[in-house]
Amino acid sequence: MQPFMDRVLTDAERQEAEAHLNECSYCRKRYRFEANLRQFVRQSVVEPMPVELKQKLAELRTPLH
Ligand SMILES: [Zn+2]
Repeated sequence: MQPFMDRVLTDAERQEAEAHLNECSYCRKRYRFEANLRQFVRQSVVEPMPVELKQKLAELRTPLH
């Protein structure tokens, strides 16, 4: 779901992604997790990112479920 967050999607791409999120609770959870995570990271830019958080970010960089 990285592209969904990182760039502007075409209408078709966005519809596809939203349809998948509606149908797949696994990806929906990951999407919400990443959205929360990014907010958290923005709020704490001065603090170094914990290793555990880096690992979770790396786990998110996988293809759609
Ligand atoms: Zn999925």
